[in-house]
This record gives sequence, C-alpha cells and structure tokens, in this order.
Amino acid sequence: MTTGEQRRVDDGAKRFASVGATPTHVVGNMAGTPIAAAARHFEQKYGRAAASDVVTRIPARWRELLRPNTEAMGLLGSRWYPYAFLADWIYTAKIVVHAPDEDAFIRELAWAGIDGSMSTGMRAMARWLGSPRAFAEHSQESWRLFHDTGIVSVTTIGEHELRRRVVDWQGHNVVVCKVVAEVFTRTFSKTGVREARCRREECVGWGHKACVFHITWR
Ligand SMILES: [Zn+2]
Repeated sequence: MTTGEQRRVDDGAKRFASVGATPTHVVGNMAGTPIAAAARHFEQKYGRAAASDVVTRIPARWRELLRPNTEAMGLLGSRWYPYAFLADWIYTAKIVVHAPDEDAFIRELAWAGIDGSMSTGMRAMARWLGSPRAFAEHSQESWRLFHDTGIVSVTTIGEHELRRRVVDWQGHNVVVCKVVAEVFTRTFSKTGVREARCRREECVGWGHKACVFHITWR
C-alpha cells in the first residue's frame, strides 16, 4: 500500500469515527451522495410511509444514522456510511416494499443513486464519462469517489470489453459488491455506449482473492 493509499484509508477511518455508529469495520464505507439519492428515489416511488417504516425497522445499531420524516431518511451526501449499514438498509427497504426480486431491487436503487448523484454532488465524474476508455483510465480515482477502501486495476480485453479487479477491499460485503456491479453498468451506459453490462466473475465472498467485474458494451 502506498503512502497515498494509507492516507486515504486513514481519512476513511476518521470519517467513520465522525459518523459515530458502532462499527464492525473501521474501514469499509461508501459515500453518502449516491445513498441519499437512492433514498430520495425510494421516497418518491414508494412513499413517505414506506420510508418511515425503513427507519423504524432497520436493525437498532443503525437507527441513529437515520431520521424519520426527514428528506432522504436523514441520509447525508456529506457523510460516509458503513457497508454493513448499506446492506441492512437495502435489505430492510426490500422487506418493507415486498420487492419480489432482490437483484432487480438492488439494480433499481443503485441506478437511482448514480442518476441522482450526477445531478447533484458528483459532477466531477462527468469528465471521465467521455468514453469507456477515459473511464477505465480513471478507475481508481472514480472508485475513491464512492469507497474509502479497495485498490482497483483494469485490464482492457478488447474494443468493447474490460475487467475491473478490486483487491484489499476491506469490509467487503456481498450486497455492496452487487451494488458496485450495477454502478459499473450504469456509469458505463452514461459514457454513451449501448448495452453496457457488468457481470461479477469472482468475489472474495465466494472465496476468491479479488472481486472481478467483467464489463461489456457495444
Ligand atoms: Zn465481491
């Protein structure tokens, strides 16, 4: 790990401390901007009552991160949130609205999170979205917008295909890993290509050494 990486990880730990929750991981947090955007989407689509249900039904250890009857359930774009919280939040939301297909529900929230972020706090991303190649070249930089841990490398396979490999992803969570695959799909589609797809090929949750995302487009 380079000094720069270590500094970012330390920053992540500090940000976590400022959240004030009771963590199982000091590092392993996602930026609040896309999460708050996903929460706004959830409220608009499923209603304030459903959002309040999520706040009251989420496991008790996360309750102080949420505020009932507040926009975006009180989630803030300026904060970072533990992966374990994000997974419980999605799972609780899924139960509240009786979403029949977990993967489709994760896709819905992840895409809403990306779309909402682009219209608000993450305009920096736009300059990497000129082409899939530009996005690949800024892989680590774009990853750091969302995550306080994880080292990303990219292997270009062909004109319309690449692999993103994430190692040293502390606090890895399978739900977050699925979210990331959907985020990649959505961000690649924003580069103007057609039929962007991302498949999780390997995952530390399955016993592999890295999480590998295979991205294709036309
Ligand atoms: Zn994974």
